[in-house]
Amino acid sequence: MNSGFEDISENIKRIRCNIEEAKVRANRESDDIRVMAVTKTVPYERVNFAVSQGFELLGENRVQEYLEKREHYSEKADVSFIGHLQSNKIKYIIDSVSMIQSVDSISLAEAISAQAVKRGLTMDVLLEVNIGGETTKSGFSADELSESAFRIAELDGIRVCGLMTIPPPENSSLYFEKMQRLYEDMRSLPPKSADIHLLSMGMSADYAEAVRFGTGMVRLGSALFGARTYKA
Ligand SMILES: *Cc1c(COP(=O)(O)O)cnc(C)c1O
Repeated sequence: MNSGFEDISENIKRIRCNIEEAKVRANRESDDIRVMAVTKTVPYERVNFAVSQGFELLGENRVQEYLEKREHYSEKADVSFIGHLQSNKIKYIIDSVSMIQSVDSISLAEAISAQAVKRGLTMDVLLEVNIGGETTKSGFSADELSESAFRIAELDGIRVCGLMTIPPPENSSLYFEKMQRLYEDMRSLPPKSADIHLLSMGMSADYAEAVRFGTGMVRLGSALFGARTYKA
């Protein structure tokens, strides 16, 4: 059954070990830290192998790629959308994802709300924070986050569940610490009709560091599946 996927098995062992060690160092032994398998550019057979090894939570970046792979995914897969999402594409994914982690503007939140209401469902979302203030990345600035969260939580068909970020590659611990503070602020004074329980941060290069700063979910692509052959 494992044939051809030994590399993933090895990576899984290493990831589990690294996370356990990071939890011990951070005094977080009893915390549940979830691992999302980020699937961009990865063939569905390899994704399904990860699912079969307990990595059921999948993160999708691109609508088109997801639509092509979706029908081949294991029934156990639990898919979240984590990439930049255009409002006119929401309708293609909203019925089959359990969370959208990349809500980066009020207008996108409004468009998700409209589609959710149309279908009589409630979509769990995370607000993406551009914590490094980088012009190349989307997301709310730290300054506008709180007001935006209050506005988005008012929308029908949306449940604000927390925050997601992709920090700058350098000095990520500095940014993780800022995120932890923003998240704790939001938890202590949550917008009405929000259910703040998830901080999604940490990727292949820095997930052990993110454990130190309270992450509840790390999102791993290359550490799990190997280096991507083309840039995502
Ligand atoms: C690609 C991607 C990841 C995973 O990146 P790796 O460095 O390969 O672990 C995580 N989150 C988002 C939003 C991504 O686009």
